[in-house]
Amino acid sequence: MKPASIWIWQTAYEIYGWDMVTSALIHEFGHCKLYESEGIWEGSIEVERKANEYGRKHVPPDLVPALYEEHRKFFLKSYETPWTREQCLEAHQQWCTQFERTEPHY
Ligand SMILES: [Zn+2]
Repeated sequence: MKPASIWIWQTAYEIYGWDMVTSALIHEFGHCKLYESEGIWEGSIEVERKANEYGRKHVPPDLVPALYEEHRKFFLKSYETPWTREQCLEAHQQWCTQFERTEPHY
């Protein structure tokens, strides 16, 4: 895969909400910037962490969701232990009660 484009699951916002999806887009943008700067693209956890940093660094701070770090920590867990769709939805529900105190939109 080449880092020539960013794509995202088109109905993700219905589950995760726009803030979390925005954080995912910033992360993907971080992958592009990381590739431009260091030529790294493959998907180890270290590269994922770096893409998080690059994304935040290259997007104006007022466009970065307040919970960006927490959003990214949430998705990093799926790299440590691959999730099924059900595990992901359950983990997200727990995340919401911890950070947003609102119900996810299923
Ligand atoms: Zn990534």
